[in-house]
Amino acid sequence: MNDQLSFRRYRDLKSHLKEKYGETVHRIPMNAGFGCPHRDAQSGLGGCIYCDSTGSGFSVDKSLSITQQIEKRIRELEDRGIRKFIAYFQAGSNTYGSLEKLEEIYRSVLIDGVVALDVSTRPDLVPDEVLALLDSFSSEVDVILELGLQSVNNSTLRRINRKHSLADFIDAVVRARKYKLELVAHVITNLPWDSTEDVIECARILSSLGVDGVKMHSLYVVKDSPLGQSGDLEFLSSITLDDFIFRTVEFLDHLDPGIVIHRLVSDPPREGVVFGNWGLPKIVILNEIQKRLVSENRYQGRKCSLGKCLTGKRDEWSRRFEESPDSSGRDAG
Ligand code: SF4
Repeated sequence: MNDQLSFRRYRDLKSHLKEKYGETVHRIPMNAGFGCPHRDAQSGLGGCIYCDSTGSGFSVDKSLSITQQIEKRIRELEDRGIRKFIAYFQAGSNTYGSLEKLEEIYRSVLIDGVVALDVSTRPDLVPDEVLALLDSFSSEVDVILELGLQSVNNSTLRRINRKHSLADFIDAVVRARKYKLELVAHVITNLPWDSTEDVIECARILSSLGVDGVKMHSLYVVKDSPLGQSGDLEFLSSITLDDFIFRTVEFLDHLDPGIVIHRLVSDPPREGVVFGNWGLPKIVILNEIQKRLVSENRYQGRKCSLGKCLTGKRDEWSRRFEESPDSSGRDAG
């Protein structure tokens, strides 16, 4: 990668973790088998239309116990010289259980080298007792709470069958803010039912709420999902890579530069994908986004004009992006 592309024009997670912990930190995804109240057969809710049977935890070997999953991965990473880890509860809704069960499972992964507990869940599944439980670990490790939002447009949320609204997400964030939790929002930037305006508004709402991080990806569809099963997939051809890049750049442009980008593009599962990432490896798409940012001289927070952005970290980060090696705005080629 040349110099122009080596400096990301957004606050990327890898650099943030290195700055915070003084060395490389690796996130270890785990599947604790929590399931999801939104997918359970007895709920009759059907789950989000893009959710596969693994609850988006396809990269995890769930035949292993939770402790085996993390210990195995730590051993592999230690062989590569990595010494600090984030225990990441990825699959399903990881606050779905009794307080006793949650406490036992969270505690079981706090082993040597783990510097943070990272729990991903739905915004309507974080009652105050669960937030207080998560907070109780914050004297030992950092605690990250990841909340699925996907879109700020309530019509889109209904269309993708999220079964929660924007207000539910805001309520969860406002309540979680009372604790020492790092908050990360999940967003899909190219949902075809969203407009570019919705994507920009999403960046503005997340900035004004003061979330700590955002995790993004493009819509992918696996056969084993309600959408994949529906046969109604013709509309997917209208979702182009160029539009995804355009919307992602717009999103970054309006997002507070103090917010850490935990992910811009994800890898869909290796098998059973009906639609995802236009058949391209993640790195190719990431580089295309970076090229667009450079060629148009855009960077995270460039258009963030909210009072909160102006009084927060915007100035510091805008300066960093503007002083970057690629700030001339030349085409990265
Ligand atoms: S909330 Fe998450 S785990 Fe539950 S159905 Fe939706 S995507 Fe799947």
